[in-house]
Amino acid sequence: MDQLKIGRFISNCRKAKGLTQMQLAERLNITDRAVSKWETGRALPDASIMLDLCSLLEISVNDLLSGEVVAMENYNKELENKLIEMVKQKEEADKRLLRMEVVIGVLSVIVLFVPLFIAAYAPLEDWQRVILIFTGFIPAIVGFAYAMKLEQVAGYYKCRHCGHTYVPELKAMYKAPHMGRTRYMKCPNCGKKSWQKKVLNRE
Ligand SMILES: [Zn+2]
Repeated sequence: MDQLKIGRFISNCRKAKGLTQMQLAERLNITDRAVSKWETGRALPDASIMLDLCSLLEISVNDLLSGEVVAMENYNKELENKLIEMVKQKEEADKRLLRMEVVIGVLSVIVLFVPLFIAAYAPLEDWQRVILIFTGFIPAIVGFAYAMKLEQVAGYYKCRHCGHTYVPELKAMYKAPHMGRTRYMKCPNCGKKSWQKKVLNRE
């Protein structure tokens, strides 16, 4: 796939619709920076956003991925189906990651607290208690960090104010207060803070 050609094509289609990068971005609930990245060939639109982009620009997925309007006789329905399949597969994969996060989270709590209980109630020397506490503490921290990483890469967070969906930076997630997977974070699009829910697709 020729990213530069695709970028120029997106840019031309957008202009033909009389839209600025900002206006296109708003309709797709993404940042204008993302649109600029596509148009300069530095990135391809995320599969989850490609169908919406195509319907806005009134082009087919074939056109988009070819970087030009494809003649009807060369139209490849397979490609379109493949993309829809890709979006579904990502959703399934994300669901699996989130289930894994729960398992790792629960295991981390167990390895943290079981040694703590033993240390508290078993007749042990002090140095033995210290070792016990650390044996639980270290794997638990690793487990929690890993669970957080899974939560970051699976799906998106959605801003309550503007509906923008995005993948937050790990740093922002660590700092954010949370209830389950709903996190209080600042939206990179509108800059407002809200309790943002985890969503699996960008609709
Ligand atoms: Zn927002």
